Amino acid sequence: MANAVTAGGAQAEQLAAQFRQIYGCGPAVVCRAPGRVNLIGEHTDYNGGFVLPAAIRLSTWVAAAPRQDGVLAARSDEMPGAVHVRLHDRFERSHLWTDYVTGVAQALRQFGVPLGAASLLVRSDVPLGAGLSSSASLEMAVACSLLEVAQHPLPPETLAGICRTAENEYVGASCGIMDQFVAGVGREGCAVFLDCRSLRYEYVPLPADVCLVMCNSMVKHSVAGGEYGRRRAQCEEALALLRAELPDVESLRDVTPEQFARCERFLPELLRKRARHVIAENERVLQSVAALRSADWARLGELMQASHQSLRDDFEVSCPELDLLVEYARAQPGVLGARMTGGGFGGCTVNLVRSESVARFRDAVARQYEGATGRAPAIYISQAADGLQRVI
Ligand code: ADP
Ligand code: MG
Repeated sequence: MANAVTAGGAQAEQLAAQFRQIYGCGPAVVCRAPGRVNLIGEHTDYNGGFVLPAAIRLSTWVAAAPRQDGVLAARSDEMPGAVHVRLHDRFERSHLWTDYVTGVAQALRQFGVPLGAASLLVRSDVPLGAGLSSSASLEMAVACSLLEVAQHPLPPETLAGICRTAENEYVGASCGIMDQFVAGVGREGCAVFLDCRSLRYEYVPLPADVCLVMCNSMVKHSVAGGEYGRRRAQCEEALALLRAELPDVESLRDVTPEQFARCERFLPELLRKRARHVIAENERVLQSVAALRSADWARLGELMQASHQSLRDDFEVSCPELDLLVEYARAQPGVLGARMTGGGFGGCTVNLVRSESVARFRDAVARQYEGATGRAPAIYISQAADGLQRVI
């Protein structure tokens, strides 16, 4: 049920030993990139808006060594299959996890990095496909290890853009920049307040006695992929209609709540709800940063609750399992805030829980959720962690 978060150093050492067994030599580097959890600001990133994620301790590690035969090789502990391609050939998309590796190599090449042939071994304790961004942590750790082997380091902010290109263009997932960015620049004890348009960011300290608790609903409804694309298209349609009234706005992020109140009547009901979520959610991020800075926990809790309701009722990306997890969480003592996190239709909730209440929270929420749905939730306990780093 509760997954203990493994110490990073031990993971890297074990991975190095396994690397030796598979490839017959030790790795030259081991890089780690964290998963992430978004505290507030959902479906705002692709609307040029604000987000407030934190890197978590759950991470992907990639061990790598140079090789002499012009090949890029990779394996993962988490998935079957392997990468084995000639580095200077055109890579074909396989629609498997291996696309994340070849996609990152291709995006780095396109950026002008002179890559060298390398063997890679991947291990992760970020749950795959649960909304904690195993994909971005894989991309960032692969990118970091390839660059270290090539002795061509790049800043994490630059790498985030390259990895996003890899996911958008080579894997074919139309994600925003948030996941890769926070995996790159995350900092222990802090959330990252990021402006997804300018990519300016600030660290916002989280209280030391509060844990980030992620409850995995253990469901991923099959509509998720298609609905994500549909929401993006609806946001664009809403923007186009609003621009007829507000010609200066470039994205939904530029529409103030006052302007929206004046212009919402020009939108059909569905688009009005979608736009209302995005515009109000951007405001909630700004207000959450202020609440955190002034230690106003009651306000932060209200904002997280309002975010969940808006995602459920206006953006319509929640599901009964996430709603239950939030309902159970909010009834527990020591909970500052609870909401769904990530794209929706399953995956995880994020909960800010006082350290002394975490054990009780975990047991109560797990028992109630399993009683109602028959599924035992995985519950991950973390604090905000550092971003991308070379460990060995
Ligand atoms: P999320 O990023 O929320 O975990 P995604 O669907 O975006 O979910 O990414 C999950 C996919 O990323 C997996 O299905 C797999 O293809 C790939 N992936 C992530 N981590 C690993 C890993 N450690 N080993 C192999 N593939 C991985
Ligand atoms: Mg992902």
